[in-house]
Amino acid sequence: MPRRIVILGSTGSIGRSTIDVIDALGDEYQFEGLAAGSQWELLAEQVNRCRPAAAAIADPAFEARLRAQVNGHTEISSGPAALCELVARPACDFVVSAIVGSAGLPATLAAIRAGRNVGLANKEALVAAGAVLIPEARRTGARILPIDSEHSAIFQAMQAGRRQEVRCVYLTASGGPFRTWSREQLESATPQDALQHPTWNMGPKITVDSATMMNKALEIIEATWLFDLNPADIQVLVHPESIVHSMVEFCDGSIIAQMGSPDMRTPIQYALSYPQRLPGCGQRLDLASMRRLHFEPPDLDRFPALRLGYEAAERRGTAGAALNGANEEAVAAFRAGKLRFSDITRVVEVALGGHPFVAHPSLEDVQRVDAWARSEVARCLKA
Ligand code: NAD
Ligand code: MG
Repeated sequence: MPRRIVILGSTGSIGRSTIDVIDALGDEYQFEGLAAGSQWELLAEQVNRCRPAAAAIADPAFEARLRAQVNGHTEISSGPAALCELVARPACDFVVSAIVGSAGLPATLAAIRAGRNVGLANKEALVAAGAVLIPEARRTGARILPIDSEHSAIFQAMQAGRRQEVRCVYLTASGGPFRTWSREQLESATPQDALQHPTWNMGPKITVDSATMMNKALEIIEATWLFDLNPADIQVLVHPESIVHSMVEFCDGSIIAQMGSPDMRTPIQYALSYPQRLPGCGQRLDLASMRRLHFEPPDLDRFPALRLGYEAAERRGTAGAALNGANEEAVAAFRAGKLRFSDITRVVEVALGGHPFVAHPSLEDVQRVDAWARSEVARCLKA
């Protein structure tokens, strides 16, 4: 049976790589649906090339322009609810969740509710609402397959033993563009500086998250939900080459690492082809020419976001929603020149510490805390 795939966020960095992967995999993989936020021109091009059964644009203001640009074979709809309908289409059997931010939560949850297997890139949805998504996936039998490279690595390495044999996980981090910057330099880092990632080419929000290392904080929380890990059993290791994507240590002391080029097409493809491995379009690694791989402990003084990641992972409940909502707002303010780089983590800490915590949240609790955290950041900006 061919897999019929819906891509949420098809116009983004992960979405475009997913289209490359599906093209390279051949006829067994087909496009059921494509969805984007507001980039209607690129979405129209993708629709005309991939010929999905349906496409949706979240911002209804662009529906008419999208419709006018696409050929007749694809159903077009718009608005956030249209994305939830797209993933529930009966023919869809796999959803790539690649919207950026908690904006991706409703459609990701809709996919899980409909029992679709989900390749998850949209870590913010899981960070904010792991307490809702994970039980829901258990109830419907939907599988969540990680696309985030570190989590794909952990998922692959875990297959070398049984779950109870796992001692700990090493979550690798490139260290981002500011790995060697001093505290003083970090105070005045500009958005342009933060957008120069040394090893990965990604969308702007996650690139800023890599610079603050909030991305790794989100990934600690993501790993606790995906693999049911204690935060204390997750150790962050800075690895500037981004070749070892993460490692699992077993009780006998063996450490299994997954390696590859820093190319997201490889983990995307593994999520799509699991449990098989297929030849695809990912770049091969030339280890002989690399010669050296480096590992160092993270510096929590220069990158305090990591500490917040551990704190939120320990507290669970709505802590992830507060951390994530505040971070999204703070990153947007930083990119708009309204917040200094080092204040991103400061305002996230304020929101995490002060938010109305709920230990066993519903979707509504998560959304309320997300909105509260955003308004708290807006309040900090005015103060
Ligand atoms: P991006 O900014 O390149 O793309 C974001 C996509 O989301 C676009 O298609 C955009 O149209 C869509 N979108 C934005 N707001 C929306 C809304 N309100 N409703 C519907 N669609 C909306 O981002 P990206 O780098 O591709 O990242 C996507 C997700 O994958 C993020 O959660 C990120 O953390 C994660 N991720 C990315 C990478 C990477 O290499 N880029 C690696 C690991 C994880
Ligand atoms: Mg990652």
